[in-house]
Amino acid sequence: MLMKTVQSIVDTRLLCRLQRYQGNNVGLVPTMGFLHEGHIRLVRQARRDNDFLVVSIFVNPTQFSPSEDFSTYPRNFEQDQSLLADEGVDLIFCPSTEEMYSSENSTFVEVTGQLTTNLCAISRPHFFCGVASVVAKLFNIIDPHRAYFGQKDAQQLAVIKRMVRDLNFDIEIVSVPIVRDDDGLAKSSRNAYLNPDQRKSSTVLFRALQHAEMLIIDGERNSGRILAEMEKVIQATEYARIDYIDIVCTNSFESQEYINGEVLIAVAVWIADTRLIDNIQIDLSNLTS
Ligand code: AMP
Repeated sequence: MLMKTVQSIVDTRLLCRLQRYQGNNVGLVPTMGFLHEGHIRLVRQARRDNDFLVVSIFVNPTQFSPSEDFSTYPRNFEQDQSLLADEGVDLIFCPSTEEMYSSENSTFVEVTGQLTTNLCAISRPHFFCGVASVVAKLFNIIDPHRAYFGQKDAQQLAVIKRMVRDLNFDIEIVSVPIVRDDDGLAKSSRNAYLNPDQRKSSTVLFRALQHAEMLIIDGERNSGRILAEMEKVIQATEYARIDYIDIVCTNSFESQEYINGEVLIAVAVWIADTRLIDNIQIDLSNLTS
């Protein structure tokens, strides 16, 4: 099937609905574009699982605060289009801001409680409401059977899963592992902001996470001591400034004083003016020591 590129909500809804009526499974990969191998991993998995594959490209203004990088967020639509055509995508949904948000838009989806209390919610208080709202809109427009999200944005993934459950969306949320560069840096559209020296410093996120993992493998269970060690690693790195580091329960996202069962170790670090996030999950029952 030849890939279609559609800006209109009405046309996208019609095309997706037609596929559904024909008995086809519809998959959705929501993105903000400037695609990299992380996105492509989601697209490939979705291509394997579904008959009709939609990728949305929309830099969503409601998830950026006025001081953030909405206007400078990297964009390269032609390159995205060519990458997605190579992956056999059926439809790119790329609405304008005006198409998605009328000037009278006043309805938002807010996931409340522990999930949106710590980590990214602290420094980006409007972020998850913006994300949940735009994803709910995409779900209503495309009505996919499955939607794909990266584990790199672990808190976002948890928020979306909760929204789907609470609002009874009949959609399977598929989570996809983090794709990294060879030196461990998680792929991100924002890596494009880094100059060569900053790019070298940016490996500190994964190095700090690996250091934490080693301490846990060696038997450390006290989160405070692990976080202090991570802090040292990050503070010793040029350009790096901690936004947060935390060890939380993978289900509740509550900070854990002691490591027990499954935890998520999550970091957000400024490398000069670029804020990067990363995480690893550790399941004590899978550790050998
Ligand atoms: P974004 O365009 O940054 O909003 O990302 C769109 C989707 O791609 C989200 O579900 C992200 O979690 C996912 N994603 C971004 N980077 C990566 C990565 N390095 N590995 C896996 N998934 C990713």
